Amino acid sequence: MLQLRPNCECCDKDLPPDSAEARICSFECTFCRSCAETVLKGHCPNCGGELVSRPRRPAEKLQTYPASTDRVLKAKGCANAA
Ligand SMILES: [Zn+2]
Ligand SMILES: [Zn+2]
Repeated sequence: MLQLRPNCECCDKDLPPDSAEARICSFECTFCRSCAETVLKGHCPNCGGELVSRPRRPAEKLQTYPASTDRVLKAKGCANAA
């Protein structure tokens, strides 16, 4: 099951579980759309994998399977990582 992390690892933008802007890699490193497309050019800076749109979990499922609240943030940001 996806963790549905709450923020972008690059810029710390909030990415709630119903956000259409969240992008993830296969390890679920999580980024916002603008970082994924501009800074990262579609590839995860941690593992090199492709970034794809994160599916949104239906609201009623979130009550049983809530999204992660653990914020993950790259200490040095992503500007020099890609
Ligand atoms: Zn971002
Ligand atoms: Zn990754």
